[in-house]
Amino acid sequence: MFICLDCGHHFESGEAATLKDYHGDRTLKPENFTACPACHGAYEEAKSCTECCNSYLEDELYPGDLCRACLEAKVTLSDTVKYVADYKLEVDFYLSHWTESKLGRDSSLSQELVKIVQDAWTAFAERAPEEALSVCKKFVLDDGLGMHDYAEWLKEVNHEK
Ligand SMILES: [Zn+2]
Ligand SMILES: [Zn+2]
Repeated sequence: MFICLDCGHHFESGEAATLKDYHGDRTLKPENFTACPACHGAYEEAKSCTECCNSYLEDELYPGDLCRACLEAKVTLSDTVKYVADYKLEVDFYLSHWTESKLGRDSSLSQELVKIVQDAWTAFAERAPEEALSVCKKFVLDDGLGMHDYAEWLKEVNHEK
């Protein structure tokens, strides 16, 4: 089975069109070449998906010669967790990916998470107070709105005293 790179037509080897290429000079002996029978475009030999056996171009297949649909069907809960552990993607998966998508909707999760990160911050601030202070300064001073709010807050706190 072959697949046209231009129009995607699938065809068997015997169906390929045989064309002549004069290289722009009709006085020369033409070169024969084969092309897609539908559009005369270039083509490549197809590979089969090992799962569904449909034909694809080689660069459409994923490792293990799986097509996208079959690969998607193989993304399961338990395998994803194993994959994350094997490739050490815990930070990416649990923090960046999962909590990011969940935080907006699940306030109990965000509260728990804040508590964990807060404890980590306290330990960090005790261990490296100067570094922690520069994080604070960056947070408050880097954006004009934060400075305004911080000043507003200072004023209130001082007022209460
Ligand atoms: Zn074609
Ligand atoms: Zn497939």
